[in-house]
Amino acid sequence: MSSRGTLFTVSAPSGAGKTSLVEALVGSMSNILVSISHTTRPKRPGEEEGVNYHFVTPETFHAMVARSEFLEYAEVFGNCYGTAQQWVEDTLNNGMDVILEIDWQGADQIRRLLPDTVGIFILPPSREALEQRLTNRGQDDADIIAGRMQKAINEMSHYVEADYIIINEDFDDALEDFKAVMRAQRLTLDNQQARHGSRLEKLLS
Ligand code: 5GP
Repeated sequence: MSSRGTLFTVSAPSGAGKTSLVEALVGSMSNILVSISHTTRPKRPGEEEGVNYHFVTPETFHAMVARSEFLEYAEVFGNCYGTAQQWVEDTLNNGMDVILEIDWQGADQIRRLLPDTVGIFILPPSREALEQRLTNRGQDDADIIAGRMQKAINEMSHYVEADYIIINEDFDDALEDFKAVMRAQRLTLDNQQARHGSRLEKLLS
């Protein structure tokens, strides 16, 4: 494959279904990979090193920052998160599309650095639906839920910075929308010329 892949950022408030949608998308389309971020936050039950994240100490993270190994990095809810530059560059250069599941601050940095990046934002259908999804079966008190809602609203306030908005009301519909964005991006003039240059030239000669 000769043409360079496309870089996508996918952002969403927690509770919008971002991770499930990205997993389903990558499982159903070829030539697309998700970057595994580095983070200083502790592993949650069920998470695996090298699968969900590369879990590192703050010292390791800051050494990577000092060596300019991150394409972008940000502090989110008190922990550091970053995208390793080398893997993303190599994967794009191999013609694969790459998804970065990152917060609005990271997406903002990437957009400035690589203006061809396609920004996608996933939103819940309503505040009520989000609140429902952020409520842990009645086990959390109102303050905790209000805190989660406030963080979600802060993240959502940046949706206008994205190129595409996907509203996750019905999972299957949202997945179809997501696939449509990826496919459309592969069909732009630039991408088709890069992929099928000689075929297109022969049509006119
Ligand atoms: P969580 O800790 O719940 O997995 O993620 C918290 C937030 O950090 C989410 O909004 C997620 O998208 C964001 N995030 C994960 N990896 C990165 C990264 O490499 N860079 C940035 N800027 N944000 C990230």
